[in-house]
Amino acid sequence: MAEIVLKRGGDQRARAGHPWIFRGEIGDLRGTWSPEEPVVVRDAAGRRLGQGHYNPRTSLAVRLLTRREESVNADWFAARLAAALAYRRAHGLIADAYRLCWSEADGLPGLVVDRYGDLAVVQCLTLGMAKAVTAVAAGLEALFPGGGVFRADDPTAARLEGFAPRREWLIAPADLAPPGDPGERLVEEGRCRLAVIPAGGQKTGLYLDQRENRAAVAAHGRERRVLDAFCYGAAFACHALAAGARAARCIDSSPDALALAARNLALNGLEGRADLVEANAFDELRRLERAGERFGLVVLDPPPFTRRKDALEAAARGYKEINLRGLRLLEPGGVLATFSCSHHVSPAAFEAICRDAAADAGVPARVLAVLGQSRDHPVALAIPESRYLTGLLLEAP
Ligand code: SAH
Repeated sequence: MAEIVLKRGGDQRARAGHPWIFRGEIGDLRGTWSPEEPVVVRDAAGRRLGQGHYNPRTSLAVRLLTRREESVNADWFAARLAAALAYRRAHGLIADAYRLCWSEADGLPGLVVDRYGDLAVVQCLTLGMAKAVTAVAAGLEALFPGGGVFRADDPTAARLEGFAPRREWLIAPADLAPPGDPGERLVEEGRCRLAVIPAGGQKTGLYLDQRENRAAVAAHGRERRVLDAFCYGAAFACHALAAGARAARCIDSSPDALALAARNLALNGLEGRADLVEANAFDELRRLERAGERFGLVVLDPPPFTRRKDALEAAARGYKEINLRGLRLLEPGGVLATFSCSHHVSPAAFEAICRDAAADAGVPARVLAVLGQSRDHPVALAIPESRYLTGLLLEAP
């Protein structure tokens, strides 16, 4: 097993409970490293800190898996996954569709597992996890015998980490036909039925991080017109319409997303009350405002405007622009549900951006609620990066 010895002081973050070690904190690599095996990490004095996945390509070089002297094998993965399941059971978070494993926050850095019915969809975000995926699948099989396990990696993470992203069965379910394609799965989310396409969709098929917010926001659209901007599969619009909204307009720039949105609306018998617009939301929000259109509920759920700290200012300008438009599009008493999923944008920073937007829009909004990611995407207190989704529910007078 290869060993990494940190520079003096390089152990500080790890000692505070954080699993990350950056390349600049590494003093020495001893032995022969292979991506299939965790490395042992020691502080400058040679004291053992733990074992982790190492990648020499990325500046985030080591992600600690365990502080113990234990073998990181299928049993180890099964135990971590069982603990993740127990947390969700204890807090009532198990549903037809839910996140079983949220990376660092579940003690499995670089691994995401979402459950859709009896199907588990695995996403490897690091080289180490990509190499450990067979053990992960075995762990899932032990936990959920007979259910299928599909792998749906994130291409961006795979490129950064230096492995080929895969979309394939790790364990095909017994009733699979035809082989090779998990096709479409239908899941129940509250009162809505939603289609999930793990092989072709965004994320693992569904933005599960917004599950609790979709439930919380829906009623604000009752008897009103809803604007669902950056809609993906129109899950917010479906919930609002099911809760009694009169009509919805859904905007996305991706034709695939809009095809999924059409499918979801039809699955719920709501297609007659929604229209779908393929457009850049920045342009469409401006156009709607100029056209004098107004809505009782506006949802703004954009993709992360930055994944890097140094691009924060440009991201802030983007958030401010859409929120300014979103606020101006509200009818009196209307509600804006607005989100950021850039982990560099803290809840306080996001609130400040929305404050600026409201000032420029001339809308003295009230904060009805501060929103975050669903609780099946837990936040580890020692790992601020595990919190990435923040949002506000704002009401116009
Ligand atoms: N609200 C959705 C998730 C939205 S994800 C849900 O609850 O399921 C963000 C979406 O924004 C993606 O579908 C992406 O295709 C879309 N998108 C990205 N940039 C866009 C732009 N400039 N204009 C419109 N849509 C955009």
